[in-house]
Formats: sequence, structure tokens, C-alpha cells
Amino acid sequence: MTAHNNQGGSINLTAGDRGGCLADASNELTNNQILRALPEPDRRRLIDDLVPTILVQSTLLANPGEVLRHIVFPTGGVVSLVTGTSEGGSVEAVLIGNEGVVGSWHAAGVEGAPWRTIVQAGGPALLMTPEAFKAHVAESPALAQLVVRYNLAAHLLTSQSAACNRFHELAARAARWLLMVCDRTASLELTLTQEFLAQMLGAYRPSVTVALRGLDRAGLVAVSRSRIIILDRPGLEELACECYAVVRQQTADLVQSEGSI
Ligand SMILES: [Zn+2]
Repeated sequence: MTAHNNQGGSINLTAGDRGGCLADASNELTNNQILRALPEPDRRRLIDDLVPTILVQSTLLANPGEVLRHIVFPTGGVVSLVTGTSEGGSVEAVLIGNEGVVGSWHAAGVEGAPWRTIVQAGGPALLMTPEAFKAHVAESPALAQLVVRYNLAAHLLTSQSAACNRFHELAARAARWLLMVCDRTASLELTLTQEFLAQMLGAYRPSVTVALRGLDRAGLVAVSRSRIIILDRPGLEELACECYAVVRQQTADLVQSEGSI
């Protein structure tokens, strides 16, 4: 899978890389919540069309209007859908990790990506062509329903983020965002610049620097130039705004409720 990174260069996303511990898609299947929630026969039918890969941080998967080469089911990596303004401002609309699927718009017959789609945190994922994805959605009512339920979860995340950006303090928003990424990567260490975090939060970089310095001074995180390490997760959860727990519960209710599929 060839894509362009956000510096404009061309890089490979290593689709089809079957090396190392990702030799078999079936090993990764249940690490994605949508795939895990599928009835076993439906899940088995997907295996041959899924290719394990490693997402590379900062890879641009699609600009708005461009067609994704692959549908992405993250199993440890994280992808962001980013919306922007003509003045160059940007803010993250949706964060997609192992609870979701990137490219679900193809299930509705929409080919062009509605958002700038970039890899937020590198890590494993399973890829499928849009054609195969559409065929499986048509054949599997359970998959179709899970995709609709996930889209609702993403819609709720976006709504909550709109309220969050308007009403909640930047430090609490930053804490919430760090926790959301850590949940999806199963890691307490994030590689990212403060500039990037500011873009995701739709905030000014100096304000983000001040907020992170406060979290660092409180012993909740250790911040360096391009890395943030979470030192006190319970403390960070206490500081994060209510949006973290609200969205986490809503997503679990919609995507993890196997009994309703
Ligand atoms: Zn909030």
C-alpha cells in the first residue's frame, strides 16, 4: 500500500508484509473489537481477505476526496480523521483504534474519504480492499450492523468532542486525549510532538505546552520533545474531563455488545 506522508514524500505502508509475528491474520482478528464481535462463521469468512500490516506513524492514508487503498481494522495502531479550515487550522474529528474500522464510508457507497486520514500512532492493523469490504458487508448482516453501530459510536465521539472543545479546560482535554490513545495502543508511551497534539486538540501550541507542563509538574506524565510517557494513569483519569468515561462507555455499549448481534 503506497501512501504519502504529511511531508509530501511517498512511503510504503507494508500491506502484504507477512513477516514476523504478523504472519497470520487470524492471530490478529480478535484484537479488533468489530471483528471480535462478529459471529464465528462470519469472522471466518473474512480471514482470507484480511492482510496483516504495521501502520507507520504520520502516514497520510488519504486527503479529503481521495480513495483509500485499503479499509483498515486497527489492532494496535491508531488512525485520526482530521477536519480543517481554509485558514490552515485543523482538529481531530474522530480517533479510530481497535474499537473501529477506517473507511466505513465505503459501506454506504461513498468512495472519497470525507476527512484527512492519517496514522496517529504506529502499530498493527488488518487491511482489506474496499471491494472485499463492500462484498462482506452485503453478505453479512452482522458485519453491516456492527459497521452502522460503530459509525454511531464515532458520531457520538464527535458530538462529545464538540462539547468538550467548547466547555472543558485544555489540561483536562489533553488528559482525555492521551488516555484515549493509550487505550487503543495498549501503551503508556506516546511518540508525538506538542505541535501535533495541538492540531489534534484544535488548540494553540503555547497553550498546549503550558497544559502539558502542568501535567508534568503534577507527576502525571513525563514530557520530552517528541514523547509523552504516562506515569500515573489513575491520576490522569481523575484529571480528565467526564468526556473520557462517557465516550468509552458509549463505544463499549455499541461495539462490544455481542449478544445484540
Ligand atoms: Zn471533555
